[in-house]
Amino acid sequence: MSRTIWVLGNWKQNLLREPSASLAKAIADGLPDALGGSSGVRVGIAPTYLALDSVAPHTGDGRAAPRLLAQDVGAQEAGAFTGEVGPAMLREARVQAAIVGHSERRAHFGDHDQLVAAKLQAALAGGLDVVLCVGERLEQRDAGEHEAVVISQLSAALSGLAPELDPGRVTVAYEPVWAIGTGRTASPAQASEMHAAIRRWLDTAGLQGADRSLLYGGSVKPDNAAELLAAGEIDGFLVGGASLDARSFLDIVTSASNHARSSQAR
Ligand code: PEP
Repeated sequence: MSRTIWVLGNWKQNLLREPSASLAKAIADGLPDALGGSSGVRVGIAPTYLALDSVAPHTGDGRAAPRLLAQDVGAQEAGAFTGEVGPAMLREARVQAAIVGHSERRAHFGDHDQLVAAKLQAALAGGLDVVLCVGERLEQRDAGEHEAVVISQLSAALSGLAPELDPGRVTVAYEPVWAIGTGRTASPAQASEMHAAIRRWLDTAGLQGADRSLLYGGSVKPDNAAELLAAGEIDGFLVGGASLDARSFLDIVTSASNHARSSQAR
């Protein structure tokens, strides 16, 4: 079975409303060409909260429209939670999916495993799809703990899912912390090895690892995207820095479309 390939852009705390709208428009305009008729690739963009409304008109549900993502989501439905933005607010802003557990949130904003699990559940309950980020720090990889760290993050986020929530709406992105924004990419072998471990864990947890798109993130650029996809286990990317430029983001989408077409032809 061929899995959907996702190319998602995480704009982080960059771009005010107008530049966000311009970038979204450039991506939306270039997408039909970059997809080149490929039906196996979907794209999403995650601007900052305050630019969601300026970006939303350039997004949509269609095959050749970028999905609108949020970079985070509050863990509560509503109430006295100063500064938080809940799932219903994001839905109202036309957001389709929320990123949870990004390593920058884990490192700088106290998003520990339990909070990530709570955000994930709140997002699903509120009607959003979820991109769950997991990944080890450099010292954990150097100590040979990378697989255990990632599996424990996955397990904390997904094991206690309430039965009414659909785990099929969660896409996992493996993002080794040492590769994010550093220019250092995991090798295709390192990323594939981790993806295979994640699939094994998902299978053991009854979450259909084989059917799921698993993404990689960490210094993905137009010139390394094809090589990462060719490794076989990687079904797309969460892209930070290279998603801030329409041309590089679209070039990554083109690599993904070429890969999808050649996999379908096999
Ligand atoms: C990210 O922020 O999720 C990311 C992978 O960033 P970069 O592509 O810049 O490494």
